[in-house]
Amino acid sequence: MNYYSLLKINNLIKNPRLKFLGLLCFHILKKRYISVQFDPVNACNLRCKMCYFTDKDYVKKLKGLFPKEELPLLSKAVLKRAAKLQVGCGTEPTLYKNLDDIFILAQQAKVPYISMTTNANLIEKDTLRNWVLHGLNEITVSLHGVTKESYEHFMGKGNFDRFLLSLQYITEIKKEFPDFKLRINYTFNEDNFLELKDFWKTFKDINIDYLQIRPIDKIGNTEYNNFSLEKILPVYNEVYTLVNKKAIEHNTILIAPKLDRLNYKQSMNSVIRPFTYCYISPLVFWHKDFNWKQETYNQYCKRTGFTSQMIRLIFAKNATIQALQNKSLNYDIN
Ligand code: SF4
Repeated sequence: MNYYSLLKINNLIKNPRLKFLGLLCFHILKKRYISVQFDPVNACNLRCKMCYFTDKDYVKKLKGLFPKEELPLLSKAVLKRAAKLQVGCGTEPTLYKNLDDIFILAQQAKVPYISMTTNANLIEKDTLRNWVLHGLNEITVSLHGVTKESYEHFMGKGNFDRFLLSLQYITEIKKEFPDFKLRINYTFNEDNFLELKDFWKTFKDINIDYLQIRPIDKIGNTEYNNFSLEKILPVYNEVYTLVNKKAIEHNTILIAPKLDRLNYKQSMNSVIRPFTYCYISPLVFWHKDFNWKQETYNQYCKRTGFTSQMIRLIFAKNATIQALQNKSLNYDIN
């Protein structure tokens, strides 16, 4: 079962108690259920206007590089229970010189789905081929504009022609490795939403497996700060339907919130997130009480009573479960 199937099942199960029960079963049966989200370097070559990389105060705090010599410890601590490794979550992973080592370790740990998110302005074909040979299953590319003008406006320091060249490289590599996936994440706002109508004109020759469209989110004092969706709401369904129709013609799976969920920020899907979403960066390693250099995730769970915690949650009061919800959109996977 691939990672997107697991996501679909999680979306289908509405009852949070059943989600905890499922998690408990996965845990007891020693199945993989953690999603490891790893930013190996706290830097980015771009300055996108909707991103905290345009928030000077935030960027001052974003420093550091994950030590290469500690990668095997990271692997030992969490990768044996990882259903997915996502490299690059909030920074640019291609600035990290030891990406090969990460993919090799994940491949050795038999992580079933290894993905990387990038702005794709620095991708080279031979390097990409190596990553795929070392186990990379999917590349996710961030996009904030469909035309050169809009792309370079919203993705400060980005180069649209170089971006298209990278997409071309990815399409060529996909011919060599047909199972390798390309996903595009398009973040929209009131000023770039209607461009989605032309998405397939610009990218008609690119072999895209998944297209996610998602609204702007406030993630700091960003340069672009119009968070309203008012102008989008009346035309959302029309654009959604058009994009989805073309996506089907191109064999692309569209991942997008339905109109009624566009402004809905609370999701029961997120109640299991604290137990499955393992964020690692040069400054953070998931739960503060996890001594990852000395113990594995299994040992941590035993020490902190994961099983009894899940049982308590299965029978917890509604208010306790409500409190576990965090900000998250419900996405439909078409
Ligand atoms: S490429 Fe990604 S991390 Fe870099 S500035 Fe743009 S949105 Fe932020």
